[in-house]
Amino acid sequence: MTLRTLDTLGDLAGKRVIVRADLNVPLKDGEITDDGRIRASLPTINALLSQGARVILISHLGRPKGAPEAQYSLAPVAVRLAELLGREVDFATDTVGDSAHEVVDQLTDGSVALLENLRFNAGETAKEESERRGFAGELAGLGDALVSDGFGVVHRKQASVYELAELLPSAAGLLIAAELTVLDRLTETPERPYAVVLGGSKVSDKLGVIGHLLPKVDRLLIGGGMLFTFLAAQGYKVGASLLEADQIETVRGYLAEATRLGVDIVLPTDVVVAAAFAPDAAHEVRPVESIEDATFGASGLGLDIGPDTAANFARIIASSKTVFWNGPMGVFEFDAFAGGTRAVAQSLTEVDGLSVVGGGDSAAAVRALGFSDDQFGHISTGGGASLEFLEGKRLPGLEVLGW
Ligand code: ADP
Ligand code: MG
Repeated sequence: MTLRTLDTLGDLAGKRVIVRADLNVPLKDGEITDDGRIRASLPTINALLSQGARVILISHLGRPKGAPEAQYSLAPVAVRLAELLGREVDFATDTVGDSAHEVVDQLTDGSVALLENLRFNAGETAKEESERRGFAGELAGLGDALVSDGFGVVHRKQASVYELAELLPSAAGLLIAAELTVLDRLTETPERPYAVVLGGSKVSDKLGVIGHLLPKVDRLLIGGGMLFTFLAAQGYKVGASLLEADQIETVRGYLAEATRLGVDIVLPTDVVVAAAFAPDAAHEVRPVESIEDATFGASGLGLDIGPDTAANFARIIASSKTVFWNGPMGVFEFDAFAGGTRAVAQSLTEVDGLSVVGGGDSAAAVRALGFSDDQFGHISTGGGASLEFLEGKRLPGLEVLGW
């Protein structure tokens, strides 16, 4: 089966086309700090507008718990989207309520509206299929067709990603198609050596993918929050750093499996340990054997890989032919802990081959650190989705589109 593309939906002039985008941008004090995901959604939106469709955008933002929370409103996204499109974007203050219906009813051909955060509705992420189906039914009432283009969420079986695609004529948008073209190159015949670099903070999510990636890669570099579970698996004390104690045994299994497969799992030899989680916290570089010997004792927090590790990672990355990187090496949002992420980003720009950065925060990090998109082979909007794709998993949000 092949993915249904946009053209399979036929003539969309005058049709109400729901676009499930991933507009989950990072916000700080109500300001968008990286609009990459909005920009990545533009080709599909523009293609539909030029056909004379009535475009109804839906997305989630952050992780609200099934009810409205002002800090997760998509209102700032509507403003930025209007600037980027150079046209008005109507905004509905709810997702399937009176406001949404009013906004959709007033849409004219070739115009666009954004509905409020999908996750303000418990049905979007409900465990019960019937609840998701109920919410998807309400969404379906607003449109004639669905274009699914939120690559960052295709690994999730959620109402707007899965059930809605069953209820309406549906197809993949241009972003999903473009993402798959690049990721296919990584899964089919990656040029070797092939390195995957993992970091970030969704530790339990990301530890799970390692077992499936090991048979596919030559080198696996571990930074970010998950590195401490690896250090703990080797018997080191990690102070108050992020740790998934119940995953230590699993990680020991990965280390043994890597040895058996001849895969290099490259772990940090030094880390930056801080007194507190704050931009101006006192900090020092420690070898991994003596994290708790830092001035801050057992309350010390590892917030970045150390300079020796960064140099080693950079050397290994730059000498690989295919590199996929997901997850910042440290708390790059604070300058004092951005060094590891900066070094890894720099080395990816030096890869003689295909370099791919995936993940919302990873993409935001490289841009915040002053790199430009064209220095990398590809910047993917999906972190978890890319990783699951590279594992060879079936992704529900793609399967429902015929893939
Ligand atoms: P992505 O969005 O690219 O998939 P994640 O969402 O998994 O990445 O993680 C991004 C976050 O990880 C960043 O906000 C960063 O501050 C955080 N992070 C990285 N290293 C650490 C660490 N050692 N301790 C705490 N947080 C970390
Ligand atoms: Mg993230």
